[in-house]
Amino acid sequence: MTEPLAPGTAEVPAPGTPGGPLPGEPEFDLVVRSRRVVTPEGVRPLAVAVRDGKIAALLPHDSLEHRREGAARETVDLGEVALLPGLVDTHVHVNEPGRTHWEGFASATRAAAAGGVTTVVDMPLNALPPTVSVAALEIKRQAAAGRCHVDVGFWGGAVPGNEGELEPLHRAGVFGVKCFLSPSGLDEFPALDRAGLREALRTLASFDGLMIVHAEDPALLTEPPGPAYRDFLASRTAEAERRAVAQVVELAAETGARAHIVHVSSASCLDVLRAARRDGVRISAETCPHYLTLTAEEVSGPAYKCCPPIREAANRDGLWRGLADGLLMGVVSDHSPSPPDLKAPGFAAAWGGISSLQLGLPVVWTSARERGHGLSEVARWMAEGPAALVGLPYKGAIRPGADADLVAFDPEGRFTVDAAALHHRHPVTPYDGRTLTGVVVRTWLRGRPAGGGAPRGRLLAREGIG
Ligand SMILES: [Zn+2]
Repeated sequence: MTEPLAPGTAEVPAPGTPGGPLPGEPEFDLVVRSRRVVTPEGVRPLAVAVRDGKIAALLPHDSLEHRREGAARETVDLGEVALLPGLVDTHVHVNEPGRTHWEGFASATRAAAAGGVTTVVDMPLNALPPTVSVAALEIKRQAAAGRCHVDVGFWGGAVPGNEGELEPLHRAGVFGVKCFLSPSGLDEFPALDRAGLREALRTLASFDGLMIVHAEDPALLTEPPGPAYRDFLASRTAEAERRAVAQVVELAAETGARAHIVHVSSASCLDVLRAARRDGVRISAETCPHYLTLTAEEVSGPAYKCCPPIREAANRDGLWRGLADGLLMGVVSDHSPSPPDLKAPGFAAAWGGISSLQLGLPVVWTSARERGHGLSEVARWMAEGPAALVGLPYKGAIRPGADADLVAFDPEGRFTVDAAALHHRHPVTPYDGRTLTGVVVRTWLRGRPAGGGAPRGRLLAREGIG
């Protein structure tokens, strides 16, 4: 990898030179101008020039006014509407094949595109078969091929007895493998016990693979004593989460493996993560829009049910501090929908999973701006950080050489969520009826509009294979 050039300084090959357009051809396929282009170096007025699906150059905002007619096939002037990098959502349960009636590649990726998400990494469970072998990964890839409106990569799974599949899955291009320490809710995806986790981490360390962990200590989980939300919350405590995170830290330190905690719900985990970082343990962690924006106090039905659960308002403030100080590297959806009938029973029996893929950006932005955060931070949390987690250097940032995955986002626009109007397969989401700030105006995938028309998404593999 060469060092990315700073905005405005990129060399653009001249017409007729190698890499440049042929004489007489437009120099760029697309130029998007905005007074607020969100780059890793900050928010600034720029013109983002695209050729062959890549960001070819970041030009001064007014430069094209001095250029000859026909420099670009298409120019879009966004004015004050911001331009963000396409979001990278590394935590999505697509559920196809096998549970396509819960969600599928076509509906999930159409929702992603409408929500400004241009890269999705699919979780190894809820689909049948679960992605716990190379054969299952192939089945998944065949199910996804030709159906995706955004780019899609895959996580593998680590379950008891599949240690021998972890390296083949890594070689086949998964970004890492996921395990549970407590029951996943699905019989076909059992949890690892402490010995199993240690063995899997040791295996992964031998080829520098990544383990991502659903961290709740099964010894501390209990049956909800009743059907109310407070009963469900009491059955999955912050301490169960903290203890499980501590166990992952301990075994990551012992084995030298890379580990990542998915969907941190309890701010009590942050001290454990801080100490682990200080000790040089290779560990990172994410949180989700619902833990940052919803509270136990306002839960009004099973659409809010997820594991670990949404906790109290004071805990939510702690998660925002964890994001601000970098202990949490990103915000990803954990989009995990199910048919409405599975969400109908009380909190004890309902499927645990929140549907939000299309809404993550406005949901997070609505709260982030109230808390004094800017678009740069949101782009870091929802695009650049997740891209770094899965090692995709050409995703997650507006910089020359990256894929031209772009989102026109009106940060002052407002809208009220109508669950039935979303592209998710089922109209169930806790955000239904909420008024949010921030409207996704348009999404480009590799320089072309995403979401409508024929699916153009590619299937992604981990960098450095093949
Ligand atoms: Zn999940």
